[in-house]
Amino acid sequence: MKYAVVLINIKALGVKTFSYLIPEEMQEKLQIGQPVLVPFGRQGLVNAFVVGFSDYLPEGIKAKRINRILDETPLFSIKYLKLLEWIANYYCCDFVSVLNAAIPMKLIEKNSKTEQSVELTPMGEMVIKHLCHSEQSEESLKNLKRSFGSNPQDDINITKRQIEVLIQLQKDGKCSLIDFEDRNKTTRATMKKLEGMGLVRFNLEYVYRNPLTIFKDVPIEPLYELTPEQEEVYQGIKGKLKSQSPILLHGVTASGKTEIYFKLIKNVIDNGKNVLFLAPEIALASQLTKRLAKKFGIKDVAIWHSSISDGEKYDVWQRLYKNEVKILAGARSAVFAPLQNIGLIIIDEEHEGAYKQTNPAPRYDARVVAKRLAQFYQAPLLLGSATPDVSTYYFAQNNNNLFQLLKRYNNAPLAKPEVVNMQEYGKAAYRGVISKPLQTEITEAVENGNQVILLMNRRGFSTYTQCKSCGTVIECPDCSIPMVWHSEGRKLKCHYCSKEMSMPEFCPICGSDALSNSGTGTQKIELLIKELFPDYRVERIDSDILTKKNAHIELLNRFQKGEIDILVGTQMIAKGLDNPNVTLVGVISADTGFSVPDFRASERGFQLLTQVAGRAGRGEYKGKVLFQTYNPDYYAFQTAKSQDFEKFFDTEIKARQEFDYPPFSQIVRIILSSLNNFRAEKSAMEIAMRLNTMTEKFGFTEYVETLGPTPCVIAKINGYYRFQILIKNKLSQKGHEFISKFLDKITLPKDIKINVDVDPLDIL
Ligand code: ADP
Ligand code: ZN
Ligand code: ZN
Repeated sequence: MKYAVVLINIKALGVKTFSYLIPEEMQEKLQIGQPVLVPFGRQGLVNAFVVGFSDYLPEGIKAKRINRILDETPLFSIKYLKLLEWIANYYCCDFVSVLNAAIPMKLIEKNSKTEQSVELTPMGEMVIKHLCHSEQSEESLKNLKRSFGSNPQDDINITKRQIEVLIQLQKDGKCSLIDFEDRNKTTRATMKKLEGMGLVRFNLEYVYRNPLTIFKDVPIEPLYELTPEQEEVYQGIKGKLKSQSPILLHGVTASGKTEIYFKLIKNVIDNGKNVLFLAPEIALASQLTKRLAKKFGIKDVAIWHSSISDGEKYDVWQRLYKNEVKILAGARSAVFAPLQNIGLIIIDEEHEGAYKQTNPAPRYDARVVAKRLAQFYQAPLLLGSATPDVSTYYFAQNNNNLFQLLKRYNNAPLAKPEVVNMQEYGKAAYRGVISKPLQTEITEAVENGNQVILLMNRRGFSTYTQCKSCGTVIECPDCSIPMVWHSEGRKLKCHYCSKEMSMPEFCPICGSDALSNSGTGTQKIELLIKELFPDYRVERIDSDILTKKNAHIELLNRFQKGEIDILVGTQMIAKGLDNPNVTLVGVISADTGFSVPDFRASERGFQLLTQVAGRAGRGEYKGKVLFQTYNPDYYAFQTAKSQDFEKFFDTEIKARQEFDYPPFSQIVRIILSSLNNFRAEKSAMEIAMRLNTMTEKFGFTEYVETLGPTPCVIAKINGYYRFQILIKNKLSQKGHEFISKFLDKITLPKDIKINVDVDPLDIL
């Protein structure tokens, strides 16, 4: 081939591809994935990556020559690029945006940095060996010095502190000199002395930055013996490891799903293959990594998520590509990390929305990418959850790939939620919100030295501000949703565009001063609970506190340590918390969520209530769960109350079938938006019409159904008017190809934005 297509990251343009001439001497050597140096305009030589080859150039282009190959080891493979290409096709977006999401900037901007490393010399090893076999007395130290008597360095004069440093270095193995000095509070002078004695040596070379070094001294623990029930499920899943379709482990909270994953991981790595393990959030991925490091040792484990530093990413990438990692744990973006030789992919809490990237494109779902990745490696994909996605459950059941653990480990009882009917108890409730039964239970729990979780799945103080005189609700000027009053900072805030304003004195429509705040958010609950229980320690967790980095991890840690009695929060507190001292979970308004106009509303509501109920009674004390509700008879609510997933599924799946929602169709959502309401609507109508014409022409009318355009439920965001077209595709692959070809052909005027979301999380 004559030309190489390379990827360059340019500040002003982002990541783009360009063609370069391949010099004669590189013809044999140049490979996909290699970092190269190329001339680029006025910027001189810049770093780039080879992503393809061709014999031709786009018209009118004069290609310059590649200057040099920076590193002969490629950082990704053709197979990897093929996967990215598949993602771009599936999600109807351009290839470069997928590259952008998948490959860390550091890999493109800079190459490896060399650093000084330090390690023991063979003589250093000998000294330590000697010390470990004899008592560390003055006498043995003298003996040791004598044993070096025949050595040229006979003036060896080693102090206690120096010996400690040597022993530590033996434990750590070869590592970065600076890191070692930092970690062990030792100085360059000490290290130089040891070097002078010939006990350690420095090398100028590349040293991996490993974010896991903090777990270094943790001894490896054996895996637990499985209970007979767990063993049966484990054997069942092991028998399916050749399956081409996803396997689902549906197990209630604390049933031992993680222990089963561990056994499977052991099995796979003993057979020489690697494991990718995803958790929905960074905090959960970190917890998981800690657990994995304890069981398998940190040498074989690596972590990957969007918050590890670029330097660390670069290093993990190198280790992965060189097949030096056996288990990679991470959040959503870890599906893009180039783990080699995959033998199993595990996705825990698979129902979580966090696996889907909503913005920017590619709007990918890590579960879909993982399924494709698994097919590439002919490896199984194992999904686990206490409240599986309705579609996952449906397919697993149909493919005979469903495994269930419906009891907790040790038969610890699942707390049975009780309902507080607010139609009955609402009037006597504190400020109409905290019912008497809930107050009583809170007092009892805290007085017994236990802890309480209160879920209120709306942040802010109130939820809307209304004029009592004319009924006007104050909306964000740029988005068509109510502004939310925040008592902290005393501001009205828009939860979509983050616009803030102070509370107006008069109604903007009728001029009356009768403006009042209604509805309830987390800040109000926090206040009411503090008023009711002035002696208890109360804290709040929601995304408003996230302005401080790690604020919520800190709060969760304090809660875990027992420094907080009552934790109020949004769904952020429903996940992962494993605190045996929590005996009461109260849901302030169990109806929130179910009433959202979305086909997944019941599923989400069911999941949230079941997950939060699972936080109670994980220890030796029995847990209590109270749901306050105005709709005690609603089916999704009833099944959440009995935590009966199957009953929920049976009702839900019928509704989905009746309206052709997933899993009976695949949804593609197209949003057209513009600052001009009329223009947005007009272009949406044109596209819908063309789509309808095309479907007729292909005879797909029955299988590819177009709905709309309609204004989105949230009709305006950030000043942009939004119209949506929903496509329900019942033809799977074939229909999908049809839709993506159609979308490829669309060109739009500059003032119209198009946003395509395949398998959207919601349709609001
Ligand atoms: P899940 O992943 O289903 O929520 P875990 O695997 O975290 O459940 O198990 C819950 C708790 O029970 C953990 O502390 C775990 O170590 C313990 N556990 C589960 N199975 C066993 C077992 N077979 N032997 C000992 N402890 C177990
Ligand atoms: Zn008014
Ligand atoms: Zn707004």
